[in-house]
Amino acid sequence: MDASSLIAPLNDQQRLAVSAPSQAMLVLAGAGSGKTRVLVHRIAWHIKVNHVSPYHILAVTFTNKAANEMRGRIEDLLNTSARSMWIGTFHGLAHRLLRQHAKQAKLPETFQVMDSDDQLRIVKRLVKSLNLDDSKWPPKQAQWFINAQKDEGIRARHMQDSGDFYLRQMRQIYLAYEELCDRSGLVDFAELLLRAHELLRDNADLLSFYRERFQQVHVDEFQDTNTIQYAWLRLLTEGNNNLFVVGDDDQSIYGWRGAKIENIYAFQKHYPQHGVIRLEQNYRSSGHILKAANTLIANNDNRMGKELWTDAGDGHAIALYSAFNEQDEAYFVVEKIRQWVRDGGLRSETAILYRSNAQSRQFEERLMTTATPYRVYGGLRFFERMEIKNALAYLRLSSNPHDDASFERVVNTPTRGIGAKTLDDMRILARQQQLSLWQAAQAMLEQNQLPARAANALRGFMNLVLELGTATQGFNLHETVKHVVEASGLIELYKKEKQDKGEARVENLEELVNAARLFDYDRENAENLSELDMFLAHAALEAGEMQGEADEDCVQLMTLHSAKGLEFKLVFLVGLEEGLFPSQQALDDPGRLQEERRLCYVGITRAMQQLYLTHAESRRLYGKDSYPRASRFLRELPQESIQEIRLRANVTRPTAAAPSVSATLGGSTFKLGQTVRHEKFGEGVVLQTEGEGDQERVQINFRNAGLKWLMLAYAKLDRV
Ligand code: ATP
Ligand code: MG
Repeated sequence: MDASSLIAPLNDQQRLAVSAPSQAMLVLAGAGSGKTRVLVHRIAWHIKVNHVSPYHILAVTFTNKAANEMRGRIEDLLNTSARSMWIGTFHGLAHRLLRQHAKQAKLPETFQVMDSDDQLRIVKRLVKSLNLDDSKWPPKQAQWFINAQKDEGIRARHMQDSGDFYLRQMRQIYLAYEELCDRSGLVDFAELLLRAHELLRDNADLLSFYRERFQQVHVDEFQDTNTIQYAWLRLLTEGNNNLFVVGDDDQSIYGWRGAKIENIYAFQKHYPQHGVIRLEQNYRSSGHILKAANTLIANNDNRMGKELWTDAGDGHAIALYSAFNEQDEAYFVVEKIRQWVRDGGLRSETAILYRSNAQSRQFEERLMTTATPYRVYGGLRFFERMEIKNALAYLRLSSNPHDDASFERVVNTPTRGIGAKTLDDMRILARQQQLSLWQAAQAMLEQNQLPARAANALRGFMNLVLELGTATQGFNLHETVKHVVEASGLIELYKKEKQDKGEARVENLEELVNAARLFDYDRENAENLSELDMFLAHAALEAGEMQGEADEDCVQLMTLHSAKGLEFKLVFLVGLEEGLFPSQQALDDPGRLQEERRLCYVGITRAMQQLYLTHAESRRLYGKDSYPRASRFLRELPQESIQEIRLRANVTRPTAAAPSVSATLGGSTFKLGQTVRHEKFGEGVVLQTEGEGDQERVQINFRNAGLKWLMLAYAKLDRV
């Protein structure tokens, strides 16, 4: 392949960006304009035309999946391997650096990455051990506080005592937390970034090595970098002026997690010699979709200002469906997907995008009922499931018994009679004497401080952990995992659990053994880490992107946040309701409302050919019923691009033909979603029922008379 064929499939502006001389460069452009494509071609250009070795290239993407795809596309373009190129997420790259230079990073070689669930567990315990009332100092809030500080590059010791009571307390928790993590060799997500930054900042030789190594640095989705990520990029590229970033201020959706749109301005200030390129042609979406996106986002202020156009033609109008309730919504969406497949489309070309993970359940149920394969991204990922985390905790302990988070997690799973009092004493001792829980337990056993029963139970647990380590020596990874899930008693525990649930858990544990068998990693860069440690790091870092059978054709379910950067022919943007999307917290906060609007812009612009918008008139979510108003975003769309789907004309209601799992209510004679007729009120749809026998009431949404509660014993209702 020669240079011209690398830029042939690009428009003029894209070509300029790809072939520009090495310099700091900002590509600022709206969704679907080819930013990611430019990044890929730029890297290929460096390798092919400028003869930069892949070894000298660094690329940061937003997900692991995007990283793999990018590597694949570059290799395809060049027809050669690009293995020595560093490409990954900020977290993945930081992790790699810390592994390779654990000592300089002041970490034990066997440090473990913990996810936010483990982190919360530790914070909870600290709040308790500091004798704080957790209703006044909610651990979740403290966790958020700690992460927010780290995202800004602030350590507890950097925090000045301003005399503020709240800050003082938070600082105390933060200090204790850092201490504990250091002691147990645990690293949370935010810590990965902060530590990787400190590593380079404080080790001049390493910094100059990596500055030398990474001659070309590329970043996708730059608008969502936070302070510490940007600081890290600056460290690496200062003086070299070799930072190539692409982004879209209208797609900044992680402000709530510390991302800074301002980094785009900062970039322009810090790299005075930079070039800026704007892309304006959208290649992804048809006209109506693009127009909707443009019109919606025009409601935000302080935009950097971009208009997108397409020569693709108007395409299909956007379809809007008002569902009766969330089940009707799911029913409608799944029917449309089945139609798509009947017409010859692939399931993987379709995506259901929602604001909150909790919304996925309805769709999953309906997809299951109709035997439609699907995959949920994010949400409760495989590695976050309880049984998997328990198994991983045993594995971690077998590798490092001082891992307090894992110790806490399984010391009593399966239950072995180690009482709350024993554990509390152990925590206090650990805290007072700066010991890991494991050491504290040892000390208590040595000093005979425990009642015989507790001592025996504790000894049993510790022996088990030691046995797991020794018995698996010489085993390969999946043999180790298999031994651990069995010897730990977990399999047996779940076999005893109530049927379906327990069975599913046992299956998941078997799947873990399988995952271990298939586990593959970059051995070249693993340094001297054991396969088990690599596997454990993978479990913590993998964002649930690759779960399920990779080659099965599946409907894609995910939150709007995780849909960033992706595209699908057929997209359903669901739950467009005030209080859900925009979210409740955004309703009286103009800043957050704008971020929600950007999120909606991201959602709309994922669609290539056809976009469906849905909302429900009644919704049960988080165990509460509500009758939300349609989202304001719907009103902000150009009405001429929208076609409302009429209820009667189009829809089969979720009635007897569709016995959705949760649609049968108690002993009620009526099914949820069923259409009924009332003498006086006419036709309506059953939304919910309450009570039993004589006391049974049903709530019905009558087409003409609106919502009514009726006593079944008196109301004469006929099925329609
Ligand atoms: P997002 O902001 O959503 O991340 P993006 O700006 O990164 O979008 P890409 O994903 O790179 O956009 O491109 C969107 C689609 O348009 C892709 O399918 C890509 O292959 C296609 N595309 C980009 N540029 C061109 C071009 N010059 N000719 C044809 N197709 C193009
Ligand atoms: Mg992109």
